[in-house]
Amino acid sequence: MELRWDPILREWIIVSGERGRRPLLPEGFCPFCPGSEEVPASGWTVLSIPNRFPSLRADPPLPNVKSDKLYRHRPSKGVCEVVIYTPKHDATLADLSIENIRAIIDLWADRFEDLGKKEYVKYVFIFENKGRIIGVTLDHPHGQIYAFPFIPPLIKRELESSKRYWRRNGQCLFCEIIEKERDDAVRVICENEDFVCFLPFFARWPYGVHIYPKRHLGALIDLTSNEKNSFASILKQILRKFDNLFNMSFPYMMVLHQRPTDNKPYPYYHFHVEFYPPYREKSKIKYFASVETGAGTVTFDYTPEIKAKELRESPET
Ligand code: ZN
Ligand code: ZN
Ligand code: FE
Repeated sequence: MELRWDPILREWIIVSGERGRRPLLPEGFCPFCPGSEEVPASGWTVLSIPNRFPSLRADPPLPNVKSDKLYRHRPSKGVCEVVIYTPKHDATLADLSIENIRAIIDLWADRFEDLGKKEYVKYVFIFENKGRIIGVTLDHPHGQIYAFPFIPPLIKRELESSKRYWRRNGQCLFCEIIEKERDDAVRVICENEDFVCFLPFFARWPYGVHIYPKRHLGALIDLTSNEKNSFASILKQILRKFDNLFNMSFPYMMVLHQRPTDNKPYPYYHFHVEFYPPYREKSKIKYFASVETGAGTVTFDYTPEIKAKELRESPET
C-alpha cells in the first residue's frame, strides 16, 4: 500500500493491494445497519465511521517497492471514512426528510473541519457513489470521505483557473458563472433563496448538474444555519427530479468541491457540488470511452439546454 507518482501525468496514484481482496459480504448482512459491529443500535440519525478497507491510513505501512528519481512513492497517509446517512436500510438520500439531510450536512461540515485540522490532510473530499451500476456493493444509504495528503488534480485545476480569473478580472470565476447561468436561465433547473442548481453551458455529463451557494464562500463551514437548510432543500429537490424523470432510484456520483485544508488562503474559490450520473437516457449508459478516457475530451451527445429542460420539468414530489 503506497502512493505512486505518475511522472507523465504528474499525479499520485493510490495503490492498495489489500483492498482488491475485500471479502464479499454474506447475502442479507449489512454492516451499516443499527446494531451491527461498528454501528450503535440506537441514538443516532447520521454517523461517520472509519472505512474498514481504507486506501489511505493515518498509520500507513512503509511502501515495500523500490523508489528512485524516476519512480517515486510515498506512504498512503490519510483517512477514509464512511458517512451513514440514516439508520433506515431501504431509504435513499432522496427519500430523507429535510431535517435528516440537514443533519448529514452538519456532519459533513464537522468532518471537514476535524479532518482538515490534521497537519497531513491537505484536502477533504466528501462524496457519494450511488447505485450498483457505479460499483457500490452496499445498498444502505451512505457516502464517503477521503482525507488526502495532497490536493487532487481536478481540484488543483479548478484552483488554478479561478485564481487566474480572480487576478485578471478581480472577480470570482464561479460567481460570474452563476450570474451568467441565471441570466441565460435556459440551463437553470431550480433555485431557492441561497442556492442554485444548473446544468452548466460546458456540462460534461448529460445530467451532470452543479449546485452553488449564491453567496461567495469556500466551504460548508462558511454556510449560515439558514443556508444549510436551503442546501438540504435544493439537494432533495434535484434528487427527486432525478428519480422522477427516470422512474427509478437514480444512480450517480456526487462530489463536494470545497477549498483545500492546507492552511493557505483560497479567497478565489467557491464551494459547489457536482453530479456525474452515468445515464444519458432511460436504460442508456453514458460511457467515458476512448475519446473521454484516452484523449481527455468529453463528447456530449445532446445539448445541456435540452437536458436541463427535462430536469426542470420533472416533478419534485
Ligand atoms: Zn443496512
Ligand atoms: Zn464566488
Ligand atoms: Fe468543481
